[in-house]
Amino acid sequence: HHRHPELNDQIEKVMDSLKITDDQLVHIMHILEEEMTAGLSPATHKQATVKMFPTYVRNIPNGTEVGKVLALDLGGTNFRVLLIDLRGNDKVELTSKIFVIPQSIMIGDGKYLFRHLAECLYEFMLKENLIHTGLCYPLGFTFSFPCKQEGLASARLTGWTKGFSCAGVVNQDVVKLLQDAINEKGINAKCVALVNDTVGTLMACAYKDPSTAIGLILGTGTNACYIESLDKVGTWDGDYDEPKQVIINMEWGAFGDNDRLNLIRTKYDEEVDLSSINPGKQIFEKMISGMYMGEIVRLIILDLLQQELLFLGHRDTYGDYKTPLYDRGGFYTKFVSTVETDEGIKFSNTRRVLEDIGIRNPTYDDCAIVQHICRQVSKRAARLAGAGLAVLINRIGKSEVTVGVDGSLYRYHPRFKRNMERCMEALVHKDIKFQLTLSDDGSGKGAAMVACVADRSL
Ligand code: ADP
Repeated sequence: HHRHPELNDQIEKVMDSLKITDDQLVHIMHILEEEMTAGLSPATHKQATVKMFPTYVRNIPNGTEVGKVLALDLGGTNFRVLLIDLRGNDKVELTSKIFVIPQSIMIGDGKYLFRHLAECLYEFMLKENLIHTGLCYPLGFTFSFPCKQEGLASARLTGWTKGFSCAGVVNQDVVKLLQDAINEKGINAKCVALVNDTVGTLMACAYKDPSTAIGLILGTGTNACYIESLDKVGTWDGDYDEPKQVIINMEWGAFGDNDRLNLIRTKYDEEVDLSSINPGKQIFEKMISGMYMGEIVRLIILDLLQQELLFLGHRDTYGDYKTPLYDRGGFYTKFVSTVETDEGIKFSNTRRVLEDIGIRNPTYDDCAIVQHICRQVSKRAARLAGAGLAVLINRIGKSEVTVGVDGSLYRYHPRFKRNMERCMEALVHKDIKFQLTLSDDGSGKGAAMVACVADRSL
C-alpha cells in the first residue's frame, strides 16, 4: 500500500481542500451571526440571505395538550398524512400514512399539487373514520419550504427548494391554496397553522423536555429554528405580550448565497451547485444535507478515477468503466453511511457498496480511499452544522439547552452526531450544557401540537 507515494499526495490535496479548521469555523460563526442580524433587521431583511422568519409560534407545549388533530407533512422525500391523538401527560398516539408525490406533480402546476394533497387527506380520513363525523378537525400543515409568515395560518412561499418547482405558488399564501383544495373536496378539516418542520421538531421535543430551545433538520435539506427574544426581532409585527419570545425559522440553508462561504467551498461544491435546479441558492445546505452529500462524494471519486488514482485494477480487467458513478445521483447518501460503518481493514460494507455500483474486486487501497472521502465529506458537513448550532446556543445564553434533531442523515449516519458534538464542545461557551436529542416523528407531531394550541384559542 506504498505503491505510488506521489499519487497519495494528490489524494491528500483533495482531502485537504475538504478540511475546515476550528479557526475557520469560528470565522464562519461570526459571519453567520452577522447574517442573522441582517435577517432580523427591517432595514436589511429584504437583501438578507439568512431570512430569520418569525413563525408566530410563541409558546412551547407543556404536556397538557389534548385532542385529535390532523397534520400534513410536505417538504421532502415523502408526503405524510398524520392523525395525532394528544392524551395529555406526555401521551401521544400517532397514526400516519405515507403517500408518494410523483415527479410530474413536483414540477407541475401548483393546483395539481394541492389537489393531490387534499385527495390523500380524504383517503386517509376515510380509512380512519373521520369523514362525516359531524366534527371539523384542526389541521397543522408542516410545509418545509422557505415562507414568509404573516400569521400562524398565513404564509407566502418565497421560493421552492429540494427539487420542487410547482408553477403559480411562489408569493402565494400556501395555507389558502391548501384550504381551497380541502373545501373543493368538501373535507371536514381546517388548516389552523402552518408549521416549518424545524418548528415541529422543536415543539415535539419540548413536549418532553422543557429546556428545548432549538430545532434542527438534517435530512433532504438542512434548516434550524430557535427561540429568540422579541427585543432582538426588528421585523416582528405582532403583539408584545408575554412571553416576550418567538420561534425564528432561520432558513439557514441559504447561508452563503452571497458568496461569503466561498473561502471554504471546493470545485466539487461548485459543480453540485451548477448542476442543481437552483444554482447559486442554498449554498450552506448543499455542503451539508442528504440531497447533496452523496453527489459530492461521487464527484470526488469520479475526479480521482479520471486522474487514474482509483479503481485501476478494475479498469485493467474490464477495459472500460460501466458504473453509475458517471451519472448524476449515481452515489446515494445512504452509501456514505454504509461505507462509514466499516471499522478495521476488511471493508465488507464498502466492498458491497462498490459492487453495487459496478466496481468489482476493489483493492484494499480503493476501499480505504473511498472511505476516507466519505469520512471527510460527512465530517465537514457535521462540523458546519455544529458551528451553526454553537452560534445559537451561545446566543440563547441559558445554562442548559436541548436541541431537537430530526432527519435521516442525522438518524442513520454512524458518526454525524459524534462529529457535531465534538466540534461543538470546542465552540460552545464552557459554562453551557447542551444536548442533541433525536426527535422521533417530530415534524408531524409538533405541527399537531401547534394546531392544537392554536385551535384552543380560536
Ligand atoms: P426529508 O428530509 O425529505 O423529510 P429524510 O429525513 O428521510 O426526509 O431525509 C431524506 C434524506 O436522507 C435523503 O437525501 C437521503 O439521501 C438521506 N438518507 C436516507 N437514508 C440515509 C442513510 N442511511 N444515511 C444517510 N443519509 C440518508
